[in-house]
Order: sequence, then C-alpha cells, then structure tokens
Amino acid sequence: MTKENIPALVASAILFAVVSHAHEPVTRARTAVNIPDVPGFVTLKCDFHIHTVFSDGYVWPTVRAEEAWREGLDAIAITDHIEYQPHKSDVNTNHNRSYQIASGRGEDLEVIVIKGSEITHEMPPGHLNAIFLTNSMQLAVRDWREETRIAHQQGAFIFWNHPGWEPQLKNNIVTWHDEHSWLVEQGFLQGIEVVNGRDYYPEAHRWAVDRKLTMLSNSDIHAPLNMDFHVHDGDHRPLTLVFAKARTSEAIREALFDRRTVVYSGDKLIGEERFLKPIFDGSVRFNRTSVTLKGRKPVYLQVSNNSDVPFELERIGVVEGVNLPGTLMIAARKSVLFDLKATAADASGEKRVVVTYRVKNLLVAPGEGLQCEFPFDITFTPASSGNN
Ligand code: ZN
Repeated sequence: MTKENIPALVASAILFAVVSHAHEPVTRARTAVNIPDVPGFVTLKCDFHIHTVFSDGYVWPTVRAEEAWREGLDAIAITDHIEYQPHKSDVNTNHNRSYQIASGRGEDLEVIVIKGSEITHEMPPGHLNAIFLTNSMQLAVRDWREETRIAHQQGAFIFWNHPGWEPQLKNNIVTWHDEHSWLVEQGFLQGIEVVNGRDYYPEAHRWAVDRKLTMLSNSDIHAPLNMDFHVHDGDHRPLTLVFAKARTSEAIREALFDRRTVVYSGDKLIGEERFLKPIFDGSVRFNRTSVTLKGRKPVYLQVSNNSDVPFELERIGVVEGVNLPGTLMIAARKSVLFDLKATAADASGEKRVVVTYRVKNLLVAPGEGLQCEFPFDITFTPASSGNN
C-alpha cells in the first residue's frame, strides 16, 4: 500500500461508517412487564425513587425517562435530595430542574414523570420522599417537620424511604420512632418502602400491614440503571405496581392515597390479598378442571402462566382420593405439566375435590404466602371397566 492511498482509504472508511450508521435500524425497544390488570383497575408499573446529577446521581434526567420506557414502566418520580447535593459546584441548585428536564422526555415517550424530592435527614425520621409536589424549592427550609408540612400543603404523597438502611440504624435494629407516629398523626406520612433496591425490610412490611400504610418498592437508583440491574438477563428493578383507575398522574396519586399497590421485587409480589389473588388468577390457567380417572392411571394436566412472575406452590394438606404434587413451580410465561391419579384402583363415582396451595412467593404478610384453592370435578372409574 502506498502512502497516497491512505487518505482515500480513510475517506472511504468514514463514508462507510456514515452510510452504514444511516441505515442502522432503530435499536431502541421497549420490553413489557407482563402482570395482568385486576378487576376495575389498570396495573401500572412504577418507580417512585430515582436520582439524577441534580443530587447524588450520575445520569442526566432525560436518561431516566428513556430507561423507564425501555423497561416497560408507566411512571417514574424524580426524587433528588433537597439537603444533599455533592455535584452542586457543577450543577446548579434548582430543585425543580431535574423533574422539568425528565418530564419533557417523558412526554415524548408517554412515560408519566412525577415531581418529587427526597427530604434528607438523620434518623429519626431518616429519609422521606414527597411526590406530586408543585414546587420543590419551597422545601429547602432545613426543618423536616416544616418540610413535610409544606409538601403536604402542596398535595404531596409522602413515604418513608429505606427504613432498614444500615447506616441509619442504631444497634442494627429497624425502629419505628415517635417522629414517625407524629408524621402519621399529622396526616403527612402515608407510605413506606417495603423494598428499596435489592433490600426487603420485613419490619416495614409488618408496619405497612398493621398501620395501614401504602407499600412501595423502588430502585433508589443513582447509576445508570443497567449498571445495577441486568435487565437483559431477566433481571428487573424493584417496582411498585399501582392499581389505578386510569393511566394518568392524578389516578396514580389517588391510588397511592387509597393504598392500592403491590410490591414487585425479584420473583416476589408483596401486598394485600385483594390484589395478589386477582393477579394470580389472571395469570394462571388450567387446561381443564374436570377429569376422568381410570384406575390408577395418571392424567396429565397443564397449567400455564402468562405473567413475568414465576409461581412457587406448596400444597397444604392432603386431598382424599387423589395424588397431587406437593410442590409445583409454574415458571414465568410457560406451561407446566403435572399428573393427577387416584389413590385407589377401584375408586368409582363423581367427586368435587378442592386442592389448596400456598403460593410461597406471593406474600400477604412477612413469611406468609397467599392461599389458593383449585376445585376439580373428578369422575373415578375402576381399572377393570376400561380397556386401558
Ligand atoms: Zn434516595
């Protein structure tokens, strides 16, 4: 190759790069989160705790909207810290700005962006998120009682962030303080993070059940989402599922005040039976519920799961007359086979049997799985009566 050829080669390489780039297909794709709606409500997938460079995050606000779109979310809240701004010599102190930037991109992508702020103090009361604010600048008054009062006056929904966050615990004990009771009594605190990032707090779960607080599950993401959650390998960020009357910001706010949420973290769903049951019923289908058993010959049943949540079932008790699996794993978006057979070869007659399973990864309280009952109509035929 001569020296004179090099510029021409470089030029054609550049041209090729430009042309091939122009013909590249659009690679941005949205992956849906498959969890069914429940009667009367749409199931919205939300993350209400997100940081950007405007506090201690590492990404520009528009990226948060695009990440949410790609991951199939319906809504996010941008919740930069009021009291902690490590980048403030590079990024100005306008507590409304990260929301303004993210919401513009959110509108383009049809992702609902909610204005929030993180009220950031020592424990107690620790960190609180106020979302559906109208003006975050008004919160910069340093006193958390005053901040929550102002947020409340703006119509905010307020929740306690990561109650089990280790740096804020005394003797490693997750504690409900008088300050939290004060916030509840004032009507300022309505919710609690049962999950933050990859951490689940059973104490917070228990308080949510007993004190009737809205359960939330949020990423509290600081880095680009992909660095902490491997979304291309079946991983997902923690989500708050909101059962809303419509896919709007106002409908989400109404649902949060009415405690219509379920926590979706890893393979677990955590919440009230009134939502977990319809989600399970809307996801799982048996190919048939009436069966004829001949002697002890097994009959194969299929059960399909159209959701992204695998279901881990454990039978409660025994069902007289039939053998059924003690455990059943119904993988996400798959059908599984299981067999049913009579315990006695000479059984005869018709019978309705009700099988009860506990769904171990659908929690109605700490350590307590949702119970589900499956009725089957079974016709027993003695082995001698057929030709097989
Ligand atoms: Zn935070």
